[in-house]
Amino acid sequence: MKKISTKLAASFIISFLILDTVLMVYLHQTITHARVDEEWDRLLETGSNHRNVLEDNYNETTLHHIVLMENGSERDVAIVDETGNIIQQSAVNEDVLTTYIRQIQEEKPTEDMIVPVDWNQSPYLVSVHPYVAGENSGTLLMFQSTIPIRQLVHQLNLHFILAGGGSIIVLFIVYFLLSKWLTRPLIRMKEATEQMSKGFYNVDLPKLANDELGELATSIRTLSNDLRRVKRERKEFLSSVSHEMGTPLTYLIGYAKVAQRGGLDESERFHYVAIIEEEAERLKTLVKNLMDVAQMDEMTFSVTKSEFSAQQFIQDIVQLVQPSFDMKDITLHIEAAHDFSLIADRMRLEQIILNLLDNALHYSKSGSIVIVRAFQEKAYAVLQVEDNGCGISAENQQEIFEKLYRVEKSRSRSFGGAGLGLAIVKELTEAHGGTIEVQSELGKGSIFTVRL
Ligand code: ADP
Repeated sequence: MKKISTKLAASFIISFLILDTVLMVYLHQTITHARVDEEWDRLLETGSNHRNVLEDNYNETTLHHIVLMENGSERDVAIVDETGNIIQQSAVNEDVLTTYIRQIQEEKPTEDMIVPVDWNQSPYLVSVHPYVAGENSGTLLMFQSTIPIRQLVHQLNLHFILAGGGSIIVLFIVYFLLSKWLTRPLIRMKEATEQMSKGFYNVDLPKLANDELGELATSIRTLSNDLRRVKRERKEFLSSVSHEMGTPLTYLIGYAKVAQRGGLDESERFHYVAIIEEEAERLKTLVKNLMDVAQMDEMTFSVTKSEFSAQQFIQDIVQLVQPSFDMKDITLHIEAAHDFSLIADRMRLEQIILNLLDNALHYSKSGSIVIVRAFQEKAYAVLQVEDNGCGISAENQQEIFEKLYRVEKSRSRSFGGAGLGLAIVKELTEAHGGTIEVQSELGKGSIFTVRL
């Protein structure tokens, strides 16, 4: 496995070295060229000065004077006549001088010029200056030693090698820090996710800086908490489901056995068979609700919206449930003075209101009133179901929307529900992009409000 820090550092180091080399070569070339050009200029200038003096005042003293001026400096001078004989010279190497004199005799330069040489190979930079002073004519040659330039280049090389070495050391420090800051936390996170996939959700990740790595660590921590919660919920859900299914099944078996006994008259047997049917119906509803919940968890159910009248919608529902309310002697009121359009999945919305009404019916006493409201509030369509039933305590209000939650866990079977109704209502409302909330007081009643 290649480490990410190695990859990063490698690309970083390579780019940096390329940049460094290009920059150094460029600097090196520029500095040496500038220096060489400067030397050429100075050589040409000094040479033409000497030539001017010579032309103005050609005599032994001037000749001597020129040579004297260059003695002891980095430059040397030689003056030759038109036939190539040396008249005067300071300490120039004999062989070198002869070579250049031969060259002048061949080329016969007519104006000041530099002799093109490679300063890297040749011991001198050379310029030639032809002079004419009365009947005397010839050439003045200037020589500049290339040793100072080579010394400069040598110095530059030394500096650049030091700088290059220094940057390589810095790069390795960067590599070390990168691997500390980047790779180690990543390895810790990898180990944490491996632990999680094995089922251990207690991940211990160090607190990291507020950057992408820190965010990743936070996400992993959240994920592990979520997984732990899901695992716990699944366990609870399964045990509740098996309990919910187990109880009616025990009754079913019990009553079936009783109904099979000999010596029962027709009406008694009918009574037991009726109870069996009722229990079977209850089981059927439970299974259907469980299927709904499972579907909602998988997000596989779809919401198909259409536009319809709120008043008509409420009236249709009330018509449907009126008989059950009449049977329990509970008055059902509609409050929907202003009609407006609802845009929702009619079937699902019906399921929401039916579940709420079903609860209102269950948890209200005979003689009480249940009100269904439909109105508009700001940009929302609001549907409300209000009852004067037993109410829900503040602490239970937080949990009633959870799956299989019942306020009274040990209540008698005659109360029915398995605690799935409100969970389904909540999922359906949220699938519509809406919200549901409850206001309730123990002993006074409850108001369930759906906002779409
Ligand atoms: P259930 O099928 O048991 O009614 P729900 O999910 O519909 O399950 O409701 C969860 C719990 O919330 C119920 O057990 C009940 O205690 C409480 N509850 C729901 N609606 C009302 C209501 N209108 N008045 C009082 N309590 C209610």
